[in-house]
Amino acid sequence: MSELETLDAQIRQCTLCRLSRARTHAVPGAGPANARIMFIGEAPGFHEDQQALPFVGAAGRFLEGLLASINLTREQVFITNVVKCRPPDNRDPQPDEIEACRSYLDGQIAAIAPKVIVTLGRFSMQLAYSGVSISRVHGQPKRIGEIVYVPMFHPAAALHQPRYRSLIEQDFDRLPELLSGLQDIASDEQRAAPPEQLSLF
Ligand code: URA
Repeated sequence: MSELETLDAQIRQCTLCRLSRARTHAVPGAGPANARIMFIGEAPGFHEDQQALPFVGAAGRFLEGLLASINLTREQVFITNVVKCRPPDNRDPQPDEIEACRSYLDGQIAAIAPKVIVTLGRFSMQLAYSGVSISRVHGQPKRIGEIVYVPMFHPAAALHQPRYRSLIEQDFDRLPELLSGLQDIASDEQRAAPPEQLSLF
């Protein structure tokens, strides 16, 4: 069994926090183990809990449209959430629930080793930015170690609020340039300086 499959099995049986008691299914995530881009949302909602798949409701359809706008399909990226079980009535995940689920997310990131992580909404944004408003930093790439994090608004917020919709569309438009830039950076690294000496952004 691969590292990702092991995590998948552990998540499906997890009882580390109260969210496990009300779930229909845990939702580990979906996508190829060698994805270059990973999208991390907040938590499964009703449809995700029913189908055991991330982003399959209205926000998911919007996310698929955003991916299509940059010539990507959901099969080419890995999609998951900060917490893997649906919070009752779609309430915000609580700090201890996020903490309980953290090792699964860290394990997925380590197993996939994506080049870019797009955080969707303020909860997953904490992986790269804390103590700042998403309105200030959305779309701004930040490199931590080998991974470039790009915070974006949550697609559900963008669906309901037109001002966020155009901002997330603009942030998506910049992803292809960022990804092709990373290829150049990788070859620069091979040619010249060690990664920690490179100033990327
Ligand atoms: N919203 C999320 O944050 N994640 C999902 O999987 C679905 C909706």
